Amino acid sequence: MSRLDMAGKLEILADAAKYDASCASSGAQKRDSRGGKGIGSTTASSGICHSYTPDGRCISLLKILLTNSCIFDCHYCINRKSSNVRRARFTAKEVVDLTLSFYKRNYIEGLFLSSGIIGSPDYTMEQIVEVARSLRLDHDFRGYIHLKTIPDADPMLVEAAGRFADRVSINVELPTVPGLTKLAPEKSAPRIEGAMGQMRLAIEDSKDARRRYRHAPRFATGQSTQMIVGADDGTDRDIVGRAAHLYDRFGLRRVYYSAFSPIPDASAVLPLKRPPLQRENRLYQADWLMRFYTFTPEDVAQTTDPVTGMLPLDIDPKLAWALKFREHFPVDVNRAPKEALLRVPGLGTKAVNGILSARRVRRLRLEDVGRLTVSVKKLLPFIICEDWRPVRLTDRADLKALVAPKPVQLDLFGA
Ligand code: SF4
Repeated sequence: MSRLDMAGKLEILADAAKYDASCASSGAQKRDSRGGKGIGSTTASSGICHSYTPDGRCISLLKILLTNSCIFDCHYCINRKSSNVRRARFTAKEVVDLTLSFYKRNYIEGLFLSSGIIGSPDYTMEQIVEVARSLRLDHDFRGYIHLKTIPDADPMLVEAAGRFADRVSINVELPTVPGLTKLAPEKSAPRIEGAMGQMRLAIEDSKDARRRYRHAPRFATGQSTQMIVGADDGTDRDIVGRAAHLYDRFGLRRVYYSAFSPIPDASAVLPLKRPPLQRENRLYQADWLMRFYTFTPEDVAQTTDPVTGMLPLDIDPKLAWALKFREHFPVDVNRAPKEALLRVPGLGTKAVNGILSARRVRRLRLEDVGRLTVSVKKLLPFIICEDWRPVRLTDRADLKALVAPKPVQLDLFGA
């Protein structure tokens, strides 16, 4: 095999990293290099938004694997041991140099680093930690660092990752334990959750220490995870339930949902087709309902099909809930509590906050609500205003057809 230069390695290892969706930087500690101190900043500024990922996600981070070689054989993964792909490997120093050089050229705001498992989980984790350590301590790098950690590694190493990174993540991979056992036989759900539990404790300890002592060492501000959707038999109901459990038990910042994409030379146990992308989108909407709209996992589960356990694809889960539980509508925008307003399809959190502030000074009319939303027409069956009260609109049998988005003709050459 010919020796790869840096560009060749980058091409392989950036491409191999594109399957990982869990790399958003929201919630990171604010840090910058004003006053000539250090290099980098966790906050974006104009001009720093380039990407090496062709799928459009995570455009301002250098998102790479340390290596795409792996001793594990997870069926859904293109980098698995039995996969016939070109392999490459960076040294820790090469990743450090690449990050700094891209940073100084304003290509990126930070680094997202993951890896296949080489040698052993501990050895791989040591290499990942060494990248972050060197960036922070040798180069005083103040940009964003997100490290993917390996649950089987020594907990001390996983904790060391948290000391240098802004965000750490441990992928649960699949929504159900049978799915994980079938598709990633070397991984173990209890070990993954054990590592998440330890990380939660370390994050909380660090927050507590920083509240008490101003100079307590910094630690990652949060952890996240990713679930692959559509590779196993897990239904949307299973996925929403697992996500709720993970948020609750481990205080995750985010659960990312990544629609399974068929890979070359795929194992026979995998489905041949990827699930509709809209499914991923609906799961993100359901996730937002739980995190920002006071929906419980049970509320979301009620919007799934009782037989298939799937969320509807043609309408979003909030509208599905409203159509199913019409007795909760219409909601009076001048009197209803915040929780009831948040249930109104078409009212986002910003609009609800706007309504709550505006109604302190006057009674709201339809045109006032209209100024806070994209389309007041869709709200008509669900709200009461000073000058509007729906008459039997909410009970109409064809209400779904009235408020559901119209089907869009797909572009023949679209993605
Ligand atoms: S351990 Fe990670 S890199 Fe290795 S095969 Fe499994 S998913 Fe892929």
